[in-house]
Amino acid sequence: MYNLQSSVKEHDEARQGEALMLESTSTKNNGRKLYIESYGCAMNFSDSEIVASIMTGMGFETTADYKEADVIFINTCSIRENAEQRVRNRLREFGAVKSRNPGMVVGVLGCMAERLKSKFLEEEKLVDVVVGPDAYRDLPNLIDKVDDGSRAVNVLLSREETYADINPVRLNSNGITAFISIMRGCDNMCSFCVVPFTRGRERSRDAHSIVKEAQELFALGYREVTLLGQNVDSYKWTSEDGTESVNFAGLLEQVALVSPDLRIRFSTSHPKDITDEVLYTMAQHENICKYIHLPIQSGNSRVLEIMNRTYDREWYTERINSIRRIIPECAISTDVIAGFCTETEEEHKDTLSMMDYVKYDFAYMFMYSERPGTLAAKRFTDDIPDDVKKRRLNEIVRKQQQHSHERLLQQVGKIQKVLIEGFSKKSELDYAGRNDQNATVVFPAEKNYKPGQYVNVFVERCTTATLIGKIVE
Ligand code: SAM
Ligand code: SF4
Repeated sequence: MYNLQSSVKEHDEARQGEALMLESTSTKNNGRKLYIESYGCAMNFSDSEIVASIMTGMGFETTADYKEADVIFINTCSIRENAEQRVRNRLREFGAVKSRNPGMVVGVLGCMAERLKSKFLEEEKLVDVVVGPDAYRDLPNLIDKVDDGSRAVNVLLSREETYADINPVRLNSNGITAFISIMRGCDNMCSFCVVPFTRGRERSRDAHSIVKEAQELFALGYREVTLLGQNVDSYKWTSEDGTESVNFAGLLEQVALVSPDLRIRFSTSHPKDITDEVLYTMAQHENICKYIHLPIQSGNSRVLEIMNRTYDREWYTERINSIRRIIPECAISTDVIAGFCTETEEEHKDTLSMMDYVKYDFAYMFMYSERPGTLAAKRFTDDIPDDVKKRRLNEIVRKQQQHSHERLLQQVGKIQKVLIEGFSKKSELDYAGRNDQNATVVFPAEKNYKPGQYVNVFVERCTTATLIGKIVE
C-alpha cells in the first residue's frame, strides 16, 4: 500500500503496530500489565481505546513494553493478505517472550479474530484468547476463563453493539485530535471486501452520545474530531420512541455546533450515498473541514459493477462535479485497487483517466488481494498476474504523485488556517499541523503559540508531501 502524505489518516502506515498507553484512572489495581498494539484502519485504533478502557476498569495498567506485560493484545486487520502476514510475524515475536514466561496471556482481537475464529487457536498455539470486534464487553469473563486454564473465544457479531456508553480514555494521543466512532459494521457487499464478514451489520450510534463525546473532548482541550464509519453517509439513528431521527448531515451539523473552535473531519464517504445535503452542510459551517475521502476503487463501469460498488463512472463523475460546485475549495482523496479480477489494460486506463479528471489531493493505492469468503473469491478468478498488478499500481502511484504535488503547489503563496498539533517530526524548532484540506503544514515554532491553537500560516513553498511556511498575524 502506498500513501503520499503524513497526517491523521483513515489508514496511517506510520501508526501500524503502535502500542496504546493509558494513565490508569481506575481505583482498582490488579497488579497486572496490559500491552495492546493495533493494525489496520482508524476504526481499529479507536476500538483499542475501548478495549483498554474496559481492561483498565478491571484493574490492568498499560505498558509500552510487551516483554513486561501479563496480557498482550494484538488488534488485527484482515483487509489484505499482507496485513494478516504482518500479524502472524508479530505473533512469532510474542511467542519468543511467552516461552520464557508461560503465564503470559496472548489475545488476538479485531478482524482477523472474527475471520478465523477458533481456527486461530489451532493455527497459533501461543494464542489464549480470540475476541471479535463486537465482543469486547465480554473481556472480563474471557480473561477469567484463561486465568482458570482454558482458552477462550468470543466472536459473536451483534446487530446493536456500538459501545456508545464506553468513553475511551485517550492519554497517549496528542491531546488535540481524536477519532469518534459513529457507526459500526457495513451493509455493502463490495465483492473484494472482507469487512462485512468481520465487522457485521451496519448500526449507527446514538447521536446524543456522539455529541456528548465531542463536547467532552472539546472541554479537555481537543480541537479536532474525526467521525468514523465505513460508510458515514448511511449514518441513521432513530431514538427508541421513534420521535427523533438524525441522518449524517444532521449529525455533522450537531457536532459542528459544539464550538466554532472544534474542527470536524469524517471518513469514509461512499460515492453512492454522499448527498448534496451533506455538501451544503459542509459549505455552511466553517469548522467542518473541506476535505472528502471518496474511494473510487476503479474508473471503469464494468469493473465497478463486478466489484459491486453500485455506482458507475458517470455517477461518480457527477458526485465530483457536485462537490466542486458546492464546495469549490474542497480537497478530495480516494482509494484505488489495481488489477481486480478480469481488469483489462483499457479498463486500467479508465482508472488513470478518472484520476486525471479529478486530480485527487491524496490517494491510498492497493494491488488487489483476494480474501477468502468474499464474493469475488467465490465468483471470479484472481487472474491478473502479480507483475501486471504491480506495473498498473506503479502507474497509478506515479500519476498520484504528480497530482498531489500539483495540488500542494496550488496552495503555495496563500495564507492557510492551521491547527498546531505539535512539533514537526524532523525538528523541535518547527511546528506541524494541517490546513482545512488536510495537507500537512510545517512552520517555525514561535514562542507565543502553542499546540491546540489555530494560526494563519503563509505558505512559501512545498515538498512532495508538505507545505512549508511561516506564521502571519
Ligand atoms: N468503507 C470504505 C469504502 O467503502 O471505501 C473502505 C474500507 S477498506 C478498510 C479500505 C480500502 O481497502 C478500500 O477502499 C479498498 O480500496 C481497499 N481494499 C479492500 N479490500 C481489498 C482487497 N481485497 N484488496 C485490495 N484492496 C482492498
Ligand atoms: Fe468494504 Fe465496501 Fe463496506 Fe467499504 S463499503 S467496508 S469497501 S464492503
